[in-house]
Amino acid sequence: RKRDGKNGLQIFDTGMLDTARERHEIEQCIEAGLKEDWFEAWLQPIVSLADGRIIGFEALVRLDHPEKGLMPPGKIIGIAEETGTISRIGDRVLEKAIRHLAAISALDGTQDTYLAVNFSPLQFELTLAHRLAALLLKHHISPRRIVIEITEAVLMLDNPEVHAVLKQLSEFGCRIALDDFGTGYSSLSYLNRFPVDIVKIDQSFTRSLNSNAADVRRKSRMLIKGIRTISHQMGCTVVAEGIETEDQWQLLRKLGVDNGQGYLFSRPMPVDGMLAMLESESEA
Ligand code: C2E
Ligand code: CA
Ligand code: CA
Ligand code: CA
Repeated sequence: RKRDGKNGLQIFDTGMLDTARERHEIEQCIEAGLKEDWFEAWLQPIVSLADGRIIGFEALVRLDHPEKGLMPPGKIIGIAEETGTISRIGDRVLEKAIRHLAAISALDGTQDTYLAVNFSPLQFELTLAHRLAALLLKHHISPRRIVIEITEAVLMLDNPEVHAVLKQLSEFGCRIALDDFGTGYSSLSYLNRFPVDIVKIDQSFTRSLNSNAADVRRKSRMLIKGIRTISHQMGCTVVAEGIETEDQWQLLRKLGVDNGQGYLFSRPMPVDGMLAMLESESEA
């Protein structure tokens, strides 16, 4: 494919990415982004499947390059994890996202919604809980409103430091969500060994609800129902990701899934857009 994209997404989406030159380019964008403050925390609402009401927001990192446009997090995160810049990126995202939650609370006058933030394994430094506490204090946000989203990769490390930090965060009142549930090797065993509060069913399960093959549809319904039953028995709330159609919403609701997120409800967007959307909804 040739470089015909007007927006950065197309340029960075091509197969050329794996070349050393492209990689170097991304590393430079990350460094520049940290220096020039190009990293943003976009927000996507998480809704109650019973009534579509917004119960929280997931913060998703975006690097908005002035010339190249938006760069996909998938590529940035992978490289940032390898080079170690992920901690600095994570700090920026966390601080901005908390500020955004405070702005949303100022607008809607409630303290009801939560903020879910994605964390890479390297971010579980021993100072994390302490730094988070300082940020929350500064923005008058209760730790109960913070959800730490981790994947199995974090738990698989089996690193005592990571476990200690997770325990601290949990005792501090934050909730822990296990992201991309069902896609790893042994997701179930982690429910037993870690203080997980929320299970996020990976979007591949939601997608297979619409498969052309009847048996795939039937099996994915059974899998989701099974995950939901086990999660509830372990005291976890269940969130389904990647909901794009009304049918998926209703089906997931009937399967007993508590909450969900996806393009059907809203795409991730910058905080200004989110505040405008919330304001127009409250007026409607
Ligand atoms: P994730 O945590 O599983 O986030 C969900 C991804 O699904 C997001 O992609 C979101 O934009 C996308 N999505 C939401 N609704 C729909 C839908 O209805 N259909 C489809 N097809 N996709 C939907 P995004 O923003 O590109 O992020 C990709 C991944 O990058 C995230 O997957 C997460 O693993 C990672 N990531 C994003 N932000 C951060 C961050 O601040 N820190 C870290 N460590 N990782 C992050
Ligand atoms: Ca996530
Ligand atoms: Ca996910
Ligand atoms: Ca993912």
